[in-house]
Amino acid sequence: MRGAVIHSPGDIRFETLEDPKILRPTDAIIRTTVTCVCGSDLWPYRGLEPIGEPHPMGHEYVGVVEEVGSEVTAVKPGQFVIGSFATSDNTCANCRNGFQSSCLHREFMSTCQADHVRVPNAQGTLVATPEQPAEEFWPGLLALSDVMGTGWWAADAAEVRPGSTAVVVGDGAVGLCGVIAAKEMGAERIIAMSRHETRQKLAREFGATDIVTERGEDGVARIKDLTDGIGADSVLECVGTPEAMRQALHSARPGGNVGFVGVPHDVAIDGEELFYSHAGLRGGPAPVRRYLPDLVDRVLEGRIAPGKVFDLTLPLEQVAEGYKAMDERRAIKVLLTP
Ligand SMILES: [Zn+2]
Ligand SMILES: [Zn+2]
Repeated sequence: MRGAVIHSPGDIRFETLEDPKILRPTDAIIRTTVTCVCGSDLWPYRGLEPIGEPHPMGHEYVGVVEEVGSEVTAVKPGQFVIGSFATSDNTCANCRNGFQSSCLHREFMSTCQADHVRVPNAQGTLVATPEQPAEEFWPGLLALSDVMGTGWWAADAAEVRPGSTAVVVGDGAVGLCGVIAAKEMGAERIIAMSRHETRQKLAREFGATDIVTERGEDGVARIKDLTDGIGADSVLECVGTPEAMRQALHSARPGGNVGFVGVPHDVAIDGEELFYSHAGLRGGPAPVRRYLPDLVDRVLEGRIAPGKVFDLTLPLEQVAEGYKAMDERRAIKVLLTP
């Protein structure tokens, strides 16, 4: 098979790799129909996360099952499937509590920018669509594998309720999907913080009612202006930098909630400040598996179209160009076709 390998910051190569095999009876092998580059792939690409030995990349996938291990009965060869970036058995105590991304047998996917992928914990991880979905749905279904599931978790963790006000910090694919989630959960006012025109446009299309272009304390001041001086009911932090977290915490009203889903990089939280803020704080890797059946329905019924976050499509062999386009912010998210 062929797939993307990172060698050093800025150096992504498309290489021939060993074909994936069933290693455990709980594995499945799928042929990817589409895959993509994630904003979080840019951390090692930019040299902000150690790379170590050259290794494959990618954790978002949809595809057709080719082979299953002897213990996998929930999906079968030929079915179109979606799975989370974090695999789960869906039976352990953490899974039963709805936190499949903390499954006691969790393995993170890490080889998905390839034409074939081995999925561990396939029985509990993969969700099959009722029938083969038309190609036009593939990007939307692929988005469920991470960014839409993560945006949903951000809104869920921030306790978005019908009629409430939600602020979304971050205009990447996850933040934009957070706008979709806030809308679906009934937020009346959705304030997207973005300085980029194409992203503002998409945010509005997804349901944002206001755009705030200011950042930092100026951004917080604008949020307060828009919320009777107190801040928002719910804030979705979808970046993971100290600035974004500060902005999110300061944008929540006393008693409001912050859902933080951007993987933190050097984020530190001041306990005393958090204490006096009266804000609720919850985050972590999204329990995508909990949401998948519902989100698959929403995509296939055309109620949500998270596939619109893909604004550049490239053949898989041009994966290096995909990273470059996202790094230079020429693309929100890059779809790769094997
Ligand atoms: Zn991702
Ligand atoms: Zn589990």
